[in-house]
Amino acid sequence: MAIHKLRRFVGTIAELVERQPQGFSQESELIDHGLDALRELVSEDDWLPHAYAAPSPERYQQYLLHADARQRFSVVSFVWGPGQQTPVHDHTVWGLIGVLRGAEYAQPYARNADGTLRPHGPEVRLGRGAVEAVSPTIGDIHRVRNAYDDRVSISIHVYGGNIGAIRRSTYPADGPPKAFISGYSNDVLPNLWDLSKESIAS
Ligand code: FE
Repeated sequence: MAIHKLRRFVGTIAELVERQPQGFSQESELIDHGLDALRELVSEDDWLPHAYAAPSPERYQQYLLHADARQRFSVVSFVWGPGQQTPVHDHTVWGLIGVLRGAEYAQPYARNADGTLRPHGPEVRLGRGAVEAVSPTIGDIHRVRNAYDDRVSISIHVYGGNIGAIRRSTYPADGPPKAFISGYSNDVLPNLWDLSKESIAS
């Protein structure tokens, strides 16, 4: 497993986040540069340890891969079992999504004047290697699902905060928004830091 690719990616995102207050006038610049780095990360499927690629028959899994020490960003592997989908939900921070394995469908939602939601445009298919972004500025509410009923899909997500600890909302069709905190599926983080194992491979 070429874990150094994840380590390098984490370093790139840390630099972008570090630069944001001074060098980046707008969130869009961070998102653009972050998407470039994520596109490169998901272009090769040879670095995600098996432990963070395991589906559950119960529900989609959200494995924390890295959390910034100051909670400015987090990196998550999102593992879809066949046919699994999220509820309609928001993030409250910027988020980047890149498909590493399989494919997924994302349906964006927009708010009506009365606060209710409507689908915003068609459902978008993200195939292997595709990336997209969400944020309160550019559109933060969506529903996502595995494009396949018979196989696992995996996407890599980056968020502008410690996403597993952020209080946010789901939007049931038949009732008011529900507060939730997603948490993470894993108790143990991948080891990005043992460079001795990679002295030959990389
Ligand atoms: Fe989402």
